[in-house]
Amino acid sequence: MTKQTILVINCGSSSLKFALIDVATKEESLSGLAQRLGASDASITIKFNGEKQTFSLAASYNHQAALAALIEFLQTNSLTQSIVAIGHRVVHGGEMYHQPTLINDEVMAQLKSLSNLAPLHNPANIQGIEAALAAFADLPQVAVFDTAFHQTMPNKAFLYAVPQQLYKEHSIRKYGFHGTSHYFVSREAATMLDKDIEALSLVTVHLGNGCSLAAIEAGQSVDTSMGFTPLAGVTMGTRCGDIDPGVIFHLTTHCGYTVEQVDTMLNKESGLLGLSGISNDCRTLEDQALEQNNPQAKLALDVFSFTIAKSLAAMTVSLSKLDGIIFTGGIGENSDYVREQIVKQLAVLGVAIDPELNAQAIRGKSLNIATAPSPAVLVVPTNEEWVIANQTHQLIQG
Ligand code: ADP
Repeated sequence: MTKQTILVINCGSSSLKFALIDVATKEESLSGLAQRLGASDASITIKFNGEKQTFSLAASYNHQAALAALIEFLQTNSLTQSIVAIGHRVVHGGEMYHQPTLINDEVMAQLKSLSNLAPLHNPANIQGIEAALAAFADLPQVAVFDTAFHQTMPNKAFLYAVPQQLYKEHSIRKYGFHGTSHYFVSREAATMLDKDIEALSLVTVHLGNGCSLAAIEAGQSVDTSMGFTPLAGVTMGTRCGDIDPGVIFHLTTHCGYTVEQVDTMLNKESGLLGLSGISNDCRTLEDQALEQNNPQAKLALDVFSFTIAKSLAAMTVSLSKLDGIIFTGGIGENSDYVREQIVKQLAVLGVAIDPELNAQAIRGKSLNIATAPSPAVLVVPTNEEWVIANQTHQLIQG
C-alpha cells in the first residue's frame, strides 16, 4: 500500500506547530514550529530526518508565510504526495461539536461564531485553517476540538451556580480543554493495565504550561478542572487557576486596574511565574528550589502541587471507584518531584508510589509507579498530534 500521511496543524496567535504523521506506523516523518508570527523576527524550525533547520520568515511573516515555507520544504523533500488530509486542532467547539468534523463553509461560519467563547484561541485556529485551505484546496481538512471529549459531562458538573439565563442566552458553562490528551492517555492506561476502558475509573492529570485534570468513568469524561475558559482550575505556568471572582471586582473597582490589565495579569503573569517571581518553567523552579534553596520557587511549587492534589481528590467525587491516576504533559511526564509532592497529599485515598520507579519515569517512559495496594499511578506520555492525525484519518475513511 502506498504511504499515507496526515498533516497536523496547531495554530496559536503567534505560532504554528505542525507534524506530518504516517497513519500506518504512527511515526512523525516531520515536525516543527513557526514562532513569533506577526513580528519581524518570525522564523520556522523544521525537524526532518533527525536534523533541525531554522528559516527566517522575514519577508512576510504571517501564518500564510509559515505554511508557504512548510509547503516548499515538503515539496523539496517529496513529502506532499503522501498527504491524504489535514487535521487542525481547534480549541473551542462549544456545545455544537462533540466529534471531529470535516471542514466546509458552514463549519467555518460556525467556528467563527464560536470565536467569542475563545477569543484568545479560536481566531488563531481559524487563521491556520484558512491558510491551509488556500494552500491545500484539494485535500479534506478536519477540525479536532479540545472541548469535544468533555461534552459527556453531566449538567451537575458543567453548570455554574449563576442565573440560568447566562447559560441559555450566553452559553456560560464549563467546557473543559485538553480533551485530546485526556482521551489519549486514558486509552493508553487501559492498555497498560490490560483492562477494557469501559471497566475503569480514572483521573487524568495533564501538567504542561496549561494544566488540567479529568475524571473518566467507563471511558467518558464526567468532570474536569478547566472551565468556561482554560484559565480555571489548578495553578498553571502563567495562569492563576481558580480564584475568588470577587478579586477581579476588587482590583477593577478599588485598585485602579482596568479589565484588560487584570485579564493579562491572570492569564500571563500569574501561576508559577507570578508566585515565584522567577519563571513559569517547572524545571527552572525545581532547580531554584532544590539546588539553590530559593524560598519563592519552593512556595510556587508547593501551591502548584497542593492545588493539583486538591483538584485530584475533587475529581474522585464523580467516579464509582479509583482504579488509577495518570500523569502526563511536560511536567507530569518528567517531574518526579512534582508527582511525589502531589501523591504525598493523597494518602487519604490510599495512593502511594515507589520512589525508585517514580525517578525512572522520565523522558517519554510509560510506567506504573504505584506500590500495592494503591490504585495504579501511571506516567503516560501524551501524543495529541497522533490523536488528531488518527481521528482525521478515521473521519475521511468513514
Ligand atoms: P505545553 O503545554 O506548552 O505543551 P509542555 O507539555 O511541553 O508544555 O510542558 C512544559 C513544562 O514541562 C515546563 O514547565 C517544563 O519546565 C516542564 N518540564 C519539562 N521537562 C521537565 C523536567 N525534566 N522536569 C521538570 N519539569 C519539566
